[in-house]
Amino acid sequence: MRRSPIELDGGELRVAGTSLHLDARRRAECAFVSHAHGDHLGRHDRAIATPATLALMRHRLGAPKRRRTEALPAQYRTPFGLGELTLELFPAGHVLGSAQLRVVRGGVALGYTGDLCLEPTHAAERAEVVPCDVLVTESTFGHPRYAFPPKEEILAGVRRFVEDALSDGDTPVLLGYALGKAQEIEKWLCDAGFKVRAHPAVHAINRIYVEHGVDLTPVRLLGAEGVERDEVVVAPPHLAWSQALRGVRSRRTAVLTGWALDGARRFRGVDAAFPLSDHADFPSLVRYAKATGASRVFTIHGFEEELAGALRREGLRAEPLRETRQLELL
Ligand SMILES: [Zn+2]
Repeated sequence: MRRSPIELDGGELRVAGTSLHLDARRRAECAFVSHAHGDHLGRHDRAIATPATLALMRHRLGAPKRRRTEALPAQYRTPFGLGELTLELFPAGHVLGSAQLRVVRGGVALGYTGDLCLEPTHAAERAEVVPCDVLVTESTFGHPRYAFPPKEEILAGVRRFVEDALSDGDTPVLLGYALGKAQEIEKWLCDAGFKVRAHPAVHAINRIYVEHGVDLTPVRLLGAEGVERDEVVVAPPHLAWSQALRGVRSRRTAVLTGWALDGARRFRGVDAAFPLSDHADFPSLVRYAKATGASRVFTIHGFEEELAGALRREGLRAEPLRETRQLELL
């Protein structure tokens, strides 16, 4: 009998019996960091991540006060050893540099999705299926009510919103998370021929995208001079009413998030909401888990029960990963 290859240690994911943590928030001796969103970051002694994620981490965490993190950059599809483990990173399609991890030990492959988006995006590497025996999958939108419309349809709606606002003399303001969503929509806007201004919080991250090969150079910084008549503003939702946007008069605002499927009620003070997501929806999560070939699946971060239940109905052995499961036998 074998132990589960994954366990929760005080709320943090860890490869069982090792010091390798996955997306730990507290300082860990050694951690794999799937991507640079705040809920996946910590100041670790050693951090394994893609070069883009390491650059974004430095930007987001700032200079360390005391001990430095030893950065261990890892490229996609390049296996390497860590003690008795063999690690390999694969694109996760969520934000620039986002990675899934495969850990092989004793012939058993553990797959960890981190945050996952299976739709091709405009500013992140395209996700791949990671074949594995045991899968740990995110479940942010792991409820059947989250089935996103085709991306072209969503973007056609955004285009209509932007064009209508511009033709009425208003400034369209598109709200998306500063890392990932903002660059996705900026890239699409630039490619579609729109002129784009970015909130300073977004613009600072754009620079790192540009350094890693995503051309966002036409995007201008939103400064005190405000906007020109034909420009589109991209800003993070929590900074929609910040100082930087004070100069944007007669604005028309739309938020871009998968949660838009919950209805406009959820968002106060915006004119529209579009379900543009950087996560996989429910049908994609189910399809993905099956495609990995995993004989056992653990769900985390979101609708764990609902997704695990759906996977069991598909014939997979699936359950939410819980603290009490750490001594469970495979
Ligand atoms: Zn994320």
